[in-house]
Amino acid sequence: LRGSATPVIPFTQPGNLTRIYAIASGKGGVGKSTVTANLAAAMAAQGLSVGVIDADIYGFSIPRLLGARSVPTKVGSMLLPPIAHEVKVVSIGMFVPAGQPVVWRGPMLHRALEQFLTDVYWGDLDVLLLDLPPGTGDIAISVAQLLPHSEILTITTPQLAASEVAERAGSIALQTRQPLAGVIENMSWYEQPDGTRVPLFGQGGGQQVAASLTTVSGRDVPLLGQIPLDMTLREDGDEGTPVVLAHPTSPAAVTLREIASQL
Ligand code: ADP
Repeated sequence: LRGSATPVIPFTQPGNLTRIYAIASGKGGVGKSTVTANLAAAMAAQGLSVGVIDADIYGFSIPRLLGARSVPTKVGSMLLPPIAHEVKVVSIGMFVPAGQPVVWRGPMLHRALEQFLTDVYWGDLDVLLLDLPPGTGDIAISVAQLLPHSEILTITTPQLAASEVAERAGSIALQTRQPLAGVIENMSWYEQPDGTRVPLFGQGGGQQVAASLTTVSGRDVPLLGQIPLDMTLREDGDEGTPVVLAHPTSPAAVTLREIASQL
């Protein structure tokens, strides 16, 4: 990563119409990165120009989920992002040696994010998705500072205990004055062959987070969808083709497309 003296963030320039969503969760493992990769692929498949910044320093799984195997290429002072399934992808993981943990402090993360926004040639994007680390860390504040127009999408599981931490992640938007675009519940149920839905991880978490964020923000924060547990979703992610492309008729893919169409 390289320094830049006078950073100009194209997304904050007058007339820029890119919609920006920062995807947050209270804790890890709720499917935040999987949902991000699928929303990106679904929107790109609709013909939108889509970019993803993987800022999840602890996870950086977006390149694998989208099957992006290359790293950005340098053209003059700019970086060209790799494109996978029509999605432009940049990840913190592309800049750290394989197998090494990222032990960056807040200011370094801020700087890395700033460079992703200023030094990467994104072109005209319709949508930019940012996969945030779980929790309420420094990077969420950096996103708010660097991209004041970005909106927050909160991912939770149906478990009520999980929804409390998701509420905290969502309510950081109140302090940073970012709009809350909505809540997505993931791993909502497992559907048995006879059609019965088994709520393996409890029920009501998504609804509760949406209701509570609506109350604290004084604005309607919708529950945008409930994504079922789906083995093909995990397998497709492991193989680098999001389920919305690999198995577009699966219930998880249908729900993910419905969510994408609301954004
Ligand atoms: P996070 O980004 O929140 O840490 P991930 O997207 O990495 O979570 O997902 C954690 C694990 O759960 C992954 O192995 C992923 O494939 C799996 N997973 C996520 N959502 C679902 C789902 N709806 N059904 C089945 N497996 C899922």
